[in-house]
Amino acid sequence: MLAHLLLEPGKIDYREVETPAPGPGEVVVRVSTALTCGTDLKAFLRGHPKMPMPTLFGHEFAGDIAFAGRGVRGFREGDAIMAVPTAPCKTCYYCRRQQENLCVTIMDNMVLGAYAEYIKLPAAVVETNMFRKEGALDYAEAALLEPLSCVVHGIEKLKIRPDDRVLIIGAGAISLLHVLVLKHLGVRDVLILGRRNYRAQAAVDVGANVILSSDAEDAREQVLQATDSVGADVVIECTGQPQVWEEAVHYARRGGTVVLFGGCPSGTRVSFDTARLHYDQITLMSPFHFAPRDVRKAHRLLSERRIDGRSLITATYEFEKLHDVLSLLQQGQGIKYALVPPSQ
Ligand SMILES: [Zn+2]
Ligand SMILES: [Zn+2]
Repeated sequence: MLAHLLLEPGKIDYREVETPAPGPGEVVVRVSTALTCGTDLKAFLRGHPKMPMPTLFGHEFAGDIAFAGRGVRGFREGDAIMAVPTAPCKTCYYCRRQQENLCVTIMDNMVLGAYAEYIKLPAAVVETNMFRKEGALDYAEAALLEPLSCVVHGIEKLKIRPDDRVLIIGAGAISLLHVLVLKHLGVRDVLILGRRNYRAQAAVDVGANVILSSDAEDAREQVLQATDSVGADVVIECTGQPQVWEEAVHYARRGGTVVLFGGCPSGTRVSFDTARLHYDQITLMSPFHFAPRDVRKAHRLLSERRIDGRSLITATYEFEKLHDVLSLLQQGQGIKYALVPPSQ
């Protein structure tokens, strides 16, 4: 099969590799659509501790089961499926306490290789985190299952009310997915704080009000203006920049919650004003990854068409254009791109 390999930071190769064969409980999926993700771009630009190179890469996908291994139950060859690239062990300390997102092995057998004709899913993923794709849902939207599961996991903990005023920092795919889920929950006022004008339209399209500012003090003024001088009930940081983590605390109202969603480069540090945190009783949360219940919920949101993810997908290209697509993302152009096999 043809597959993209990440050889070293900045260097990918689209080449012939051996088509995977399924072991017991495993399936091999013919990829119909793979989606780009911020993680892929980071891995491409500077490498990734969990992806020793050379490596297959890409982890957001949907497709059809091409080969099913012995003992696969509930699915057969030809079924259209959607899946996330990880599954918990179900036996470790964290799994037993329903914190499967923190499972000690959750990242060890992460499925990589969505930018390829075929991708193999391990038995644990097949058993727990693979679902049938409804016919009406297109493959590109179905491939949003993984990022949507992360977002569902973060929002789940918030006990959101429809009258909450929520500020989301950043205007990329994760921010827009937050808007879609919050709108589904009936939240009227969702604000997006962004820097780049051309991304603002996508945020408006999904129902957010947009604040454009690259200056934290000015942004704070604008947030206060938009919230009757109170501040946001909930602030969700989606940029993964230490400086923005620090600024996020200043947009929240007294008693508000700040969700530090975007992971920062390892080794970075932040500092917070202790008086702000304590006397204004700010709650900090930092959700990571997702548990199977979040994936089931995300699957329902997509299958029942409760959210419409189409506006997140900027354009569709054939697999061989991956390098060009990564360059576009590097220049900050577009939200997510769909990559598809060449048309026969
Ligand atoms: Zn992803
Ligand atoms: Zn576990």
